[in-house]
Amino acid sequence: MTKRVAIFPGSFDPFTIGHESIVRRALPMFDKIIIMIGFNSNKQSFFPLEKRLKWINQIFEDEAKVEIQSHEGLTVDFCKQVNANYILRGLRTSADFEYERAIAQVNKKMHPELETVFLLTMPEHTPVNSSIVRDIILHGGDASMFLPQKLNMDEFKKDEA
Ligand code: ADP
Repeated sequence: MTKRVAIFPGSFDPFTIGHESIVRRALPMFDKIIIMIGFNSNKQSFFPLEKRLKWINQIFEDEAKVEIQSHEGLTVDFCKQVNANYILRGLRTSADFEYERAIAQVNKKMHPELETVFLLTMPEHTPVNSSIVRDIILHGGDASMFLPQKLNMDEFKKDEA
């Protein structure tokens, strides 16, 4: 039987409890989930790519079905490269839906075998997004309640970013 491989693409700047929850809930649906950190060498991220890779690896170190990779370029090209037929995305609001709808429909046009699978966020994660978490960290606040438990919060101190 062909393996069900999904990719979970995002910038994950940083990876939050909202992202973690989507991946963990999707695990029973797939044989493998590749978390793909999309990056653009012309665009500056808040946290360096190496740190984001390290943190996500740490969160899923005990989860054999999860892999982490980075990719610059089109998500559909990455899917072809790793033989993934599913893209996993999370939905929080109707604004997310409109944005995701367009991307998923365009991806489907470019790569017809590809399906995008959406999971609705857990109600308590609806307001969690990476840019708010970045702002809290930037201003020296405590963002621990929005970040995965496995992470060492000292690394998120303002000067470490
Ligand atoms: P992008 O830069 O592609 O928007 P993000 O890193 O912001 O990537 O998010 C990656 C995916 O995770 C997106 O599908 C996004 O909707 C989803 N996501 C982000 N935050 C949450 C959350 N709190 N609950 C559920 N899904 C989320």
